[in-house]
This record gives sequence, C-alpha cells and structure tokens, in this order.
Amino acid sequence: MSGVRALRSFKLVNAGSVDEAARILAEGNAWPLAGGTDIIHLLRFRVLPDGMYPDVLVNLKTISPSLEYINYQDGVLRIGALTKLSAISRDAAVKERFAALAAAAGSVGSPQIRNVATVGGDIAQFPRGWYFRKPDNRFHCLRKGGDTCYARTGDNRYHSIFGEINGCVAVNMSDVAPALVALDAEIVTNKRTIRAEDFWDVRVPRSTVLEQDEVMLEIRIPAPPRGARSSFEKFAVRKAIDFPIVNGAALIGDGLARIVLNAVYPVPYRARKAEEILRGRTDAINEELAEEAADAAVSGAVPLAYNGWKVQVARSIVKRLILPGTRR
Ligand SMILES: Cc1cc2nc3c(=O)[nH]c(=O)nc-3n(C[C@H](O)[C@H](O)[C@H](O)COP(=O)(O)OP(=O)(O)OC[C@H]3O[C@@H](n4cnc5c(N)ncnc54)[C@H](O)[C@@H]3O)c2cc1C
Repeated sequence: MSGVRALRSFKLVNAGSVDEAARILAEGNAWPLAGGTDIIHLLRFRVLPDGMYPDVLVNLKTISPSLEYINYQDGVLRIGALTKLSAISRDAAVKERFAALAAAAGSVGSPQIRNVATVGGDIAQFPRGWYFRKPDNRFHCLRKGGDTCYARTGDNRYHSIFGEINGCVAVNMSDVAPALVALDAEIVTNKRTIRAEDFWDVRVPRSTVLEQDEVMLEIRIPAPPRGARSSFEKFAVRKAIDFPIVNGAALIGDGLARIVLNAVYPVPYRARKAEEILRGRTDAINEELAEEAADAAVSGAVPLAYNGWKVQVARSIVKRLILPGTRR
C-alpha cells in the first residue's frame, strides 16, 4: 500500500539497570532507546544504509532507579537524561534560574514531541541534512560512509554557513544543545563526565563522543552568577512545529559572555568573536555594542550557494540574545 511503511525489525530489551543496559550495549549492534522519536523515524523511513542499523534497542525507560528527574540543590541543577522536554520547560527552578534551557526545551517540535522526547535524546539526535535524511537511503552521503556530500552542489538552503567538518555540511538541529553549551553544562555518563561543549563528534554517524556501551545518566548545570541572564532564540518557518533554521542561546552578565548558535554548523557553534567583544563590557550593553558583536559573530561565515540568507538570520539571533526584545 503506498504511504505505509513497515518499521524495520529489531529486538527490544527492557533494561532493569544502567549496568544491564551497558552490558547489552557492549555485546554488539545495539543502541540505547529513550523516547524513540528520532530512532523510530530512522528505522521507519530507512534513512541509513543496511549494516548501520541496530539489531537490538535497549530501552532505558525501564531502568530503576529512574533516570527521569529534575533536582535543583546547592546551586547545581541535575536533570536525569530520560527527563521529558515538556517537564523541563515547565519546571519552576529551571524557568527561574536557567531560562535559556526552559525556553529551548519548550521550543522543540510540538507538545506531542515534547511529551515523549527526552533531554538526552534531543542532544544525541542524528544530524539533519536534506540528503542525509532522505528515506530509503536515497543519497548515500559522506556522513553515512559514502564519498559525496550532495548538499555542497545541491540544495543547501538549510545547511552549514560556517564550513564543513570532514567534508560534511549537515547541521546539528537540537534546540537544547546550544542552551547546554551556553550554560556550561556537563553530561554525566556511566563512564565519565563530558563538558557539553565537547559532546559532539561528526566523524561518526551518530555524531556524539559516546562510546558503544556508554549511557547518559544526568545533565548537570551550575547556577549562573546572579548578575548574569541566560536566553534562547529560535527562528523557524512554522511556529507550531518546526526545526530551527537558526537558533541560539547565551549567558551574559557579570562580565561573562557565552553565545552559542546551532543549525549553522555540523556541531553547536560558539560565537567567540562576539563573546570577546562583550566580555568585561556586559554592564554597558547598548544597541551599538550589540550590533558590533552580532557582526563579529557572523564575520567568519562562509555560506554555500543557497544559504547566504541564513547569515543574516544568525546575526539577528545574536543581536536578540544580547538585547532581548530586539526584532532586527
Ligand atoms: C516532528 C518532529 C519535530 C521535531 N522538532 C524538533 C525541534 O524543533 N527541535 C529539536 O531540537 N528537535 C526536534 N525534533 C527532534 C526531537 O527533539 C528528537 O527526536 C528527540 O529529542 C530525541 O529524543 P528521544 O528521547 O526521542 O531520543 P531517541 O530517538 O530515543 O534517541 C535519539 C538518540 O539518542 C540516543 N540516546 C538517547 N538517550 C540516551 C542515553 N540516555 N544515553 C545514550 N544515548 C542515548 C539514542 O541511542 C539515539 O541515538 C523533532 C522531531 C520530530 C519527530
């Protein structure tokens, strides 16, 4: 029947503990399963080449004690990796002290997606590129082990504006990712603690530094200094449900400036030149300084043939992050 797709088959194992999940993952071709909103899409639309699919999905939602919690204590926010985005967006402590994260989580997809998708899954979602995501692996692109980046010469309206990594110009479209990097979060796994900034690695299709048997347990975020505020901005074509064309998050104040853009590069992009302009001058922010920093943020852009317009969007996002309420 046209339009109906059979889900690729896999064995589902309900893990009772983190150790059990790690053991099964270590045995071979198995992936952790959280909300499943990305994994099931990949399996249903057969986005990947044969041989790249998991035989086994290890369900982390059955782990006890649960990895779904939000706890703010002693100046540190701890969020279980299986916590739903909807819960994060509504949590009072997150909204009060980590506004960028609450806004980012609340901007993902639609209410239905946010009620299923988890924070760990959002930051570990596969990359987005028109050719990478085409059903039935119609384009066996570089990121899937092929030898061609189709986006370089094809439709690249939504791809990287800051260049490639290993030849790939697909982008990371997580909304939560830039907020975690701006807030200098850490990701705690069963093996180590990873700074959010170091979490992505596009040399592997799954795009994170996580090892085969590594399970994210918790996101940890230090409370920003009292004089600093965090913010999140997103530009998307549709308001109700859409991936970002460009998004960004910032932590600004107390002399501190961290500005992170996403959907503009294969991994979240620190706008370091803008940060340098603001650092130490956050008490004197005005329109002129914001313009200067926004220009600096995109000064390294190397847009592709059809995505020059995204440079202007990125510039506007940076300006809005610095001057909340700005609409240009
Ligand atoms: C219609 C639609 C609209 C969307 N819009 C947006 C949007 O606007 N913004 C946005 O940011 N995203 C958007 N998304 C993507 C969505 O947010 C992700 O699919 C979702 O966050 C993934 O979370 P999940 O819990 O479902 O992860 P899963 O699909 O279960 O897993 C995703 C990846 O993370 C890995 N993983 C998950 N948890 C762990 C863990 N604890 N340890 C180790 N590995 C783990 C999995 O193995 C897998 O590789 C959209 C998706 C859809 C379907």
